[in-house]
Amino acid sequence: MTEPPPLKNDCFALPPGVDWTPVDDALALLRDRLGPVTAIETVPLADAAGRVLAADAVALRANPPQANTAVDGYGFAGAMPEGAHQLPLIAGRAAAGVPFAGVVPPGHALRVLTGAALPEGVDTVILQEDVAAGPDAIAFHGPLKKGANTRRAGEDVMAGATALVAGRTLTPADLALLAAVGLDAVQVRRRLRVAVLSTGDEVVEPGQAAGPGQIYDANRPMLLAMLARWGFDPVDMGRVPDDRDTLRARLDAAAGADAILTSGGASAGDEDHVSALLTEAGAMQEWRIAVKPGRPLALGLWGGKPVFGLPGNPVAAMVCTLVFARPALGLLAGQGWRAPQGFDLPAAFEKRKKPGRREYLRARIREGRAEVFASEGSGRISGLSWAEGLVELPDGAVHVRPGDPVRFLPWGSFGL
Ligand code: AMP
Ligand code: MG
Repeated sequence: MTEPPPLKNDCFALPPGVDWTPVDDALALLRDRLGPVTAIETVPLADAAGRVLAADAVALRANPPQANTAVDGYGFAGAMPEGAHQLPLIAGRAAAGVPFAGVVPPGHALRVLTGAALPEGVDTVILQEDVAAGPDAIAFHGPLKKGANTRRAGEDVMAGATALVAGRTLTPADLALLAAVGLDAVQVRRRLRVAVLSTGDEVVEPGQAAGPGQIYDANRPMLLAMLARWGFDPVDMGRVPDDRDTLRARLDAAAGADAILTSGGASAGDEDHVSALLTEAGAMQEWRIAVKPGRPLALGLWGGKPVFGLPGNPVAAMVCTLVFARPALGLLAGQGWRAPQGFDLPAAFEKRKKPGRREYLRARIREGRAEVFASEGSGRISGLSWAEGLVELPDGAVHVRPGDPVRFLPWGSFGL
């Protein structure tokens, strides 16, 4: 296995003088500074779904490997002009996997079945439904173009061509393509291990008795499930109270993973120990990103591993994970940079927004229009379930009126 180099200690440093970082600048910084950290291994095709391709997959064989017929019918040479035609049939047939060994003379036809290699003397096929066939001859009407109902060798993929590029997360369809072009194993990256831990004296485990002032840990199950959806290896590091020594020890343990997601304790308050520890470690930047919901997001290195210190509010934690952590983790995993592909829809709502920060609203599509959740409250977890994606409002001031186009990013565009 080849091990990529470790990340540089200052990889999250912001340029001097930067205060409120626009979302796009923050993303550009992440994109510049992060790269694959996972080793490369070879796996059989059967185990490759969901894995990240580490090198371009080059076709060993063309698809289709040879010219063949796309239908059941009769093969002959050349185009047939408009009008009635009759061709004598020669004995024998060509079937998939059972080629016709002889030559079809000009002006003659041969019975051919779907997938059969075109024998010498055949470049055009007529569909059997379009033919009156007798024992010795076929009759049909033109016109028919040369090459009709056939597939050219390599018309899909040529031998030696790149079938799939490095960085791709392999889909079931990709396995079909790789198999077709003759590959039975591929080079992939080891799955990215991502540790998740929650912080906060008030946070208790679902199922435990919760006293007044206590809340159930909502972030951890959400974050672990998102990571699994993305094909990463989630590592559950549990909960830690607002205690610096406990958190330090837990971060040390979490640094066995490739990256760490924490939630809570990321701002600059007395009990914000994630940011305090990352600062103490000397490799911390509290990114004041001009985004709602979201701030603060603490980014740093712990034991050489990137830490995404997410806000505690579940809505902000999810939005920050989708917008910032996902593309960053994708880079670490060798996927390259993946921006969500959204589309514009007419708004079903009205909203005035001040300039200076980008906003993400929980949204869904009904009757072709983007509806937004009734409350923008960052603790309204039910809105995340209600939503089917996010509406992204630009950094500048906007006054959205019903019917105005807004950018909708479905959960699917974030890989959920
Ligand atoms: P913090 O970022 O630690 O100041 O937390 C912000 C808010 O999010 C507080 O109301 C916390 O109680 C809440 N919170 C923090 N962690 C979690 C969690 N794991 N699940 C649900 N809510 C949380
Ligand atoms: Mg807290």
